[in-house]
Order: sequence, then C-alpha cells, then structure tokens
Amino acid sequence: TGGGEELLIAKGVLMQFGGLKAINQVDLFVKRGTIHGLIGPNGSGKSTMMNVLTGIYVPTAGSIEFAGRSVVGRTSSDIALSGIARTFQNVQLFGEMTALQNVQVGLHHSFASNIVDVALHTSRYTREEAASVERGLGLIEFVGLSDLANEEARNLPYGKQRLLEIARALALDPQLLLLDEPAAGLTAPDIKELITIIRKIRDHGITVILIEHHMDVVMGVCDNVSVLDFGQKIAEGKPAEVQADEKVIEAYLGG
Ligand code: ADP
Ligand code: MG
Repeated sequence: TGGGEELLIAKGVLMQFGGLKAINQVDLFVKRGTIHGLIGPNGSGKSTMMNVLTGIYVPTAGSIEFAGRSVVGRTSSDIALSGIARTFQNVQLFGEMTALQNVQVGLHHSFASNIVDVALHTSRYTREEAASVERGLGLIEFVGLSDLANEEARNLPYGKQRLLEIARALALDPQLLLLDEPAAGLTAPDIKELITIIRKIRDHGITVILIEHHMDVVMGVCDNVSVLDFGQKIAEGKPAEVQADEKVIEAYLGG
C-alpha cells in the first residue's frame, strides 16, 4: 500500500560512540503512507537510529532528509514541530496527570496562550483550553481510551499506558510517527489492539516507522522491513522476504 514517494531518505548514516559504530553506514528509505519495520537483535542500533532521526543525537556522518528538508543538526523540538513524532522504548508519561492531560501536553505546540493568558484566564486561554480538551478527547478515543480519560496515567494498565503514549505523539499532528517497541511487555489481546491502531494510523495517512521485536507484529502490519545487525543493514524487503532471509535468521538465532 501507499504511494511511491519517499518521505524520509537517510543515506550513509554513521553514529559513533567512542570506538563503537552503533549505526554503521545505514541507508533508509521510507515511503509515504507506509508502515516501515525496523528490526534486529538487541543492541543492533534500532533505538539509536530513532534518536538520530529525531535529533537526540547528531550523526557522525551521513544525510537525513525528511519531507525534502535536512534534519541533521536541528533540535529535537524543531524536528518534532516539522512533523516527526515518537514514542520511547520505555514509557514516559506524566504519571500524576490524567490521560487527557498527558495528551494535552502534546497539543500545546498548536496553541498560542502564554503564561499571562493562563494566569489571568483570558478569553484566548478559555477558548484554547476548550479546543484542547476536545482534540485531546478525540485522540483518546482514537486509541480506545475514552473510559479512562480522567484517570491518572500511572493508574492505567501497562498496555493502556503504551496506547496513551501513542495518542500523545499523535497530538503533534505528525507526518511520520516513530514507535520504539510499542508491543514490548504487552499481552496478546493488547498486541492485537495495538496492531489495529497502528493500521488505523497508517490509514489516516501517517507514515510509521515501527521498531519491533515480535515477528508476528512485524509480519502483521509492516509494508516494508529493514533489518539491522551490529549497526549495519543486513536485509530489506517485504516482511515475508526478510523473514526467509538467511542472514536474518542467522542474526536472530546467533544473537
Ligand atoms: P537496539 O535499540 O537495537 O537494542 P541501541 O540503539 O539501543 O540498540 O544500541 C546500539 C548500540 O549502541 C549498543 O551497543 C548500545 O550500547 C550503544 N549505545 C547506544 N546509545 C549509546 C550512548 N549514548 N553512548 C554509548 N553507547 C551507546
Ligand atoms: Mg532499543
């Protein structure tokens, strides 16, 4: 599915930590409107690649173009505002805030109220707060958490926390969503729900890069897959092709 146009083009990406090449000359082409899997054994460089794409790290070498513009050297917040949202490998929610409030944090970029508006409850603030609640609730509903909107995030079951993180990332209204092992630690029914939501995100025109360990998730949702091993790309293609690739089988069995 999806058109032929590339939303993200990374070429020759190298990310070196001291003597370690965590990412070693990796090319990554992600077509608009697709779900692109990024898989590989533990320590193969998947999260590092995501950190490079989102400006947490500046790559040692290589180029990264998103929607026709270079990403390299820009700040994380600038990259996020330009349309790349993400979730992290470990849950990073504001535990004492409600589910809705967590999503509203993600919405803040699109509102103009400043601290004075907030303090004085100006009409701009009141108007924007109402709009933010409405959009926040829409996103909460999108990930199936309507019943839990006013629960503190820390009280949500783990699987629901992971979905809430996705809702918060979507609040940025991204063109590209990066998910770092969203299925880790989830039960089978939670994984099924997650798969449905990831597909729904793609069907709304958002391109997804999915880092995933569970082969069944990768096989079930990805349009294309790139495989990393020791920082290098060892295979790429449709999920079925990649799963049958001997280098991939070896990397997983050996790792
Ligand atoms: P994955 O997500 O595929 O499990 P990572 O990208 O987290 O792998 O890590 C790839 C390699 O880079 C590992 O050897 C890891 O220890 C190393 N690494 C990641 N981040 C840093 C860092 N900030 N400093 C030093 N080494 C790092
Ligand atoms: Mg990782």
